[in-house]
Amino acid sequence: MFGKRITLFKLFGFPIRIEMSWLIIAVLITWSLAAGYFPQSYKNLSQAAYWIMGVIGALGLFMCIILHELGHSLVARHYGLKMKGIVLFIFGGVSEMPDEPAEPKVEFLMALSGPAVSGAIAAVSYAASLPAWPVPVKALLSFLWQFNAVLLVFNLVPAFPLDGGRVLRAVLWRQKNDMLWATNITSQIGSAFGFFMVCMGVLSLIAGNVIGAVWWFLLGMFLSNAAKMSYQQLLWRQMLSKTKVEHLMNPEPKTVPPEISTEEFVENYVYRYHFNMFPAMRNGEIVGCVSTEEVKKVPREQWATHPVEELLRPCSLENTIGPDEGAQEALKKMTSSGVSRLLVMRENRLVGIITLKDMRGYIAQRMELEGDGRNTF
Ligand SMILES: [Zn+2]
Repeated sequence: MFGKRITLFKLFGFPIRIEMSWLIIAVLITWSLAAGYFPQSYKNLSQAAYWIMGVIGALGLFMCIILHELGHSLVARHYGLKMKGIVLFIFGGVSEMPDEPAEPKVEFLMALSGPAVSGAIAAVSYAASLPAWPVPVKALLSFLWQFNAVLLVFNLVPAFPLDGGRVLRAVLWRQKNDMLWATNITSQIGSAFGFFMVCMGVLSLIAGNVIGAVWWFLLGMFLSNAAKMSYQQLLWRQMLSKTKVEHLMNPEPKTVPPEISTEEFVENYVYRYHFNMFPAMRNGEIVGCVSTEEVKKVPREQWATHPVEELLRPCSLENTIGPDEGAQEALKKMTSSGVSRLLVMRENRLVGIITLKDMRGYIAQRMELEGDGRNTF
C-alpha cells in the first residue's frame, strides 16, 4: 500500500529506511504530544514550547524505535542471519529479515534483544529525569522513559508477531520441535490481542478519548493483520519448500512474435490473457520481454504503426528463474521484485512460466486435500 522507501542513514552497517507512511505517523505523534500529552501533563507553558517539545519528543521516540530494532538486528547478524536493514513504517519499526531463524534459541535471543534495549533506555532516561531540570527538559526525559517502558511492556505481550509472541513461539517450538504449530498458536494469540485492542479503541471512543481511540484501532488492526499474514507466509514457505518450479510452471507459455503491431499485442495478448509481461520469441529463441509499461509510452494512435519489436527489453534476472530451483525461491523473487510471473529459463531457452496464481492454486488445493500439511513435512 505504501511502497516508497527513503534511506535516511546507516547504523552499524544497517541502512535505516522510512516508508512514506511513517510521515503520517510522525505528524500524528507530534500532534498527539504537542496538543495532548504535554499540555495535559505540564500546564502553563507557551504554545510554541509545546510544539518544540512535540517535535523533539517525536524525534526521540523515533530514535528509541531504531535502537530497539538495532538490538534485534545485531543479535540476528551475530547468528549469521542476513539482515536487509531497518524500516520505520506506519507502526514503528521492522528489522527486515528475509529468512526465519533456523533454531528456537536464536529466535529467543533475537526476540529478547529489542525489549532489552528499550528497558535499558527506560532505566537511563528515568535516572536522567530525576535531577531538577527546567520543566521542558524534565518533561521530555520523563516522556522518553515512559515511552520506552510502554514499548517494553507492549512488546512483551505474548502475541505473535510481537517480541513476546516470538519468545513464546521459540519456547513452544523447542518443546514440540514444530515451528509451524508454534506459529499457529502464537499468531492466534496475536489475532485475539489485536481484537482486544480494537475493543479498547471502541471503549476509548465512548469515553471521549479520540486520540487514544485512533491509536488502539490502528495498532489493533495492524497486529491482527500481521499475525494472520505471518502465519500464512510461513505456511506458504513450508508448502513450497519441497516443490520445484518445474512442477508448478505452465510448460506452454504464451509468447509473442516480435513482428506484430502494438495494437495486435494489446488486443490479442494483454486483453485476452491479462498478463503485464510477455516473452517475445523468434525462431524458438527468446529475443526479449515486452511489458504493458512499455506500451504505455507509445501514444494510443500510434499503436498500429509500432511493432512490438521496438518495445522489447532484455528479460532481466529479476523476472527469470531456473526450472530446478525451489518454488519457494520463485515466491521470494516475486515478493522482492513485485512481479507476479517469472519466466522459467533453462540455458537461455524458455521452458515455461510460473505465476503467483499457479502457486496459490497449488497451495489451496493441497490444503483442501491434506489440511495445513503439517504432518507431511
Ligand atoms: Zn522488537
